[in-house]
Amino acid sequence: MSAIITKLLIIKDEIPVSTSGELDVVDITGEVGQLINRSGISDGMAHLFVAGATAALTTIEFEPGAVADLKQAVSRLVPMEMEYAHNARWGDGNGHSHVRAAMLGPDITVPVRNGSLLLGTWQQIILVEFDTKSRNRKIHLTAMGEGALKEV
Ligand code: ZN
Repeated sequence: MSAIITKLLIIKDEIPVSTSGELDVVDITGEVGQLINRSGISDGMAHLFVAGATAALTTIEFEPGAVADLKQAVSRLVPMEMEYAHNARWGDGNGHSHVRAAMLGPDITVPVRNGSLLLGTWQQIILVEFDTKSRNRKIHLTAMGEGALKEV
């Protein structure tokens, strides 16, 4: 008689990211990929969440053209030069930052297959800083899935 035993693994980690200021885009694919490779998870999913109301996570082809296009699109959609109720209320001048971050979203889930992140060949995971100054960000990684298969 033989059985295949799998184990549910859950890992939690934090990825610190220092941003240089407004519209800084940081590629975090390498760090996330290393944490997943080392986690022992073969198949499951990785969830990433940035704690903060003026930053966002998404994916893009991380090359200067596409990154510049994203910045321009965000600036067209939610211009800085407008009146924001948040600024009138708090006077911190980052009303547009909050709206931009809310539209892109604070989290992303990536499938894990055979111990690696399932991403397209030209697809990278990025943090987008929307605040008006440099910030120290913390990205929370929660990954879960089957541990490596073991036959007994
Ligand atoms: Zn604010």
